[in-house]
Amino acid sequence: MEKYEIVVIGGGPAGVSLAKVLGKTSKMAIIRPEDYSMIYCALPYAIEGLIENEKTFKSDNLVTDAGAELIRNTVKEIDFKNKVLIFTDNVKISFDKLIIATGAVPFLPPIPGSTLKGVGAFKTQDDLEWIEGLVSKGLKKAVVVGAGAIGIELAQAFSYRKVAVDLVDMGDSVLPNLVDADMSGVLSTELEREWIKLHLKSKVIELKGSEHVESVVLDNGSTIDFEPGQGEECAGIVIFAAGMKPEISLVKDSGVELGRDGIIVNDRMETNIKDIYAVGDCTQFKSGISGQAISGKLATNAVPMAKILGFNLKGQNRSYPGFYNGAATKVGKYFIGGTGLSEVAAKALGYDTICGYSEVTTKFPIMPGAKKKRMKLVADKSTHRILGAQIVSEESVVGRIDLLTFAIQKKSTIEDLSALSYASQPHQSFYPAANIVVLAAEDIRQKQGW
Ligand SMILES: Cc1cc2nc3c(=O)[nH]c(=O)nc-3n(C[C@H](O)[C@H](O)[C@H](O)COP(=O)(O)OP(=O)(O)OC[C@H]3O[C@@H](n4cnc5c(N)ncnc54)[C@H](O)[C@@H]3O)c2cc1C
Repeated sequence: MEKYEIVVIGGGPAGVSLAKVLGKTSKMAIIRPEDYSMIYCALPYAIEGLIENEKTFKSDNLVTDAGAELIRNTVKEIDFKNKVLIFTDNVKISFDKLIIATGAVPFLPPIPGSTLKGVGAFKTQDDLEWIEGLVSKGLKKAVVVGAGAIGIELAQAFSYRKVAVDLVDMGDSVLPNLVDADMSGVLSTELEREWIKLHLKSKVIELKGSEHVESVVLDNGSTIDFEPGQGEECAGIVIFAAGMKPEISLVKDSGVELGRDGIIVNDRMETNIKDIYAVGDCTQFKSGISGQAISGKLATNAVPMAKILGFNLKGQNRSYPGFYNGAATKVGKYFIGGTGLSEVAAKALGYDTICGYSEVTTKFPIMPGAKKKRMKLVADKSTHRILGAQIVSEESVVGRIDLLTFAIQKKSTIEDLSALSYASQPHQSFYPAANIVVLAAEDIRQKQGW
């Protein structure tokens, strides 16, 4: 039986990051069943036709050039006592240290009709090829369930490919994990301008059809029907983008401690069992702000978790501070970013929130092409600490969101942000007279009389 110092189950961003840190210094294997590891973030743009499907496939060299061995197989069992993994073809390997990086799988609600043909999710290479294949063959209509970033990006991709699309969500606003309703009104309008039919405050309770899905039943009594008489390949489809659940089937009933959102690890990515670690979407971790367990199923969380574990296994002493969930998406002409807690999320956690707003242009207003840019800042009234920030702009927001995440990580206050030192240039910012972050902080100070 082949023996490895370190074995990683999972070849997603977490597994690849571990290979990069540890591959050259240890006998290490990365295990994954897929032909390709995928650039998931780019999948909607392959459906849209902006890039070819193959561009979303990561090269195996990322793992092998890093010095790790890539084992293309599926683990069916972990023998924790003997430190052995058993694959579905009954081949076994042994390990000194095991890292579980099995990711998350899309959540499909257990409603009647969810196993009908034409109902699926959006994560794997198979999902991509199935959906893209149908679109290329003239798919007429799609229903996307979930108005988070993945659902919205997919709905837009359908619309750009001339597929009629209905977007359904239980919430009363789009992108609720990224921005509050008072920031997302323009986004709903933009989606409708893109011919996406929005059904907010609506829950899918049943899918009807004999073999193939024919109709989607909502809890308000209405239905979304696909045209009858279409051939199976061109009939409508229903895609659930309604959240991810951790892939923890290998460790159920194993003694590895589990929470509602995955494997529980400490800030060094250690599970409760010696020499067993977990990173990425399969884990449950705490918010860096509130300290309470929150969801953080993002590649931008999985990669740092994996790196910290990798450096620690090399002898360093790093710790993971928690999820801040800085993230971004794009809706039509708008770039949207959010970080930390939204006002709704902060209130739900018991914070006494105060919010500030600002609006500037992306360039000096006198410059050609200057566009609007709007920001919301959420802070805690008692400590003045920044809890979250949201930006809707017609230009990229990721740089600003990262700055604000850093401010939150460093426990900055409203006063700190109102004293931010900034840069200004006619092509790249508003006038030196004002900065979007400082303005939002000043808005809070003015309202509070601070
Ligand atoms: C459409 C889409 C768009 C996204 N966009 C963004 C974005 O813009 N920004 C962002 O930060 N995040 C985005 N994400 C989320 C991001 O992709 C995930 O957070 C990230 O992939 C998590 O990485 P991971 O390595 O923990 O798990 P995964 O990438 O899920 O990888 C898990 C791996 O484990 C393997 N595995 C599972 N069980 C077994 C087993 N029994 N045996 C062997 N191997 C196993 C799987 O096959 C897979 O290779 C997006 C996700 C999707 C689906």
